[in-house]
Amino acid sequence: MKFELKNSLAPLSALSKIFEHPQTLCYPEVKSETVSGYRGFHINDLSTCIGCANCQDVCMNEAIDMIAIDKDKNPKNNSGCIPRIDYGRCCWCSLCTDVCPPDSLKLESECIWADDDANRFLYQPKDKPC
Ligand code: SF4
Ligand code: SF4
Repeated sequence: MKFELKNSLAPLSALSKIFEHPQTLCYPEVKSETVSGYRGFHINDLSTCIGCANCQDVCMNEAIDMIAIDKDKNPKNNSGCIPRIDYGRCCWCSLCTDVCPPDSLKLESECIWADDDANRFLYQPKDKPC
């Protein structure tokens, strides 16, 4: 193989980056800014969710099942059930939020979740006023 000095010195060009501003973030101390409209975790305003299961019906990935809640939370919730999301199936298409009649179901910007137990990816959306 022919020796070429410029190829041997090429790795040293990385030294010039030492004084540049880093392109990475020191996560989790520093987090990146959230983008408006980002599709992260589901949130559901339980005071307005009527338990209609439209979200479950429209989900093509069968990622939603309805689970029982205390009806005192919202007397207008006739079925007494709210959606629970399986994040092993969800593709964040947001169809479920589009068909929600009272607009109680939304996606928030928070999106980071790591776990070694697959059963913990059954997610009950946080109750959050929308
Ligand atoms: S975002 Fe899409 S895939 Fe996920 S639960 Fe809603 S409808 Fe289903
Ligand atoms: S989140 Fe919306 S679509 Fe789903 S059950 Fe509640 S009201 Fe119906």
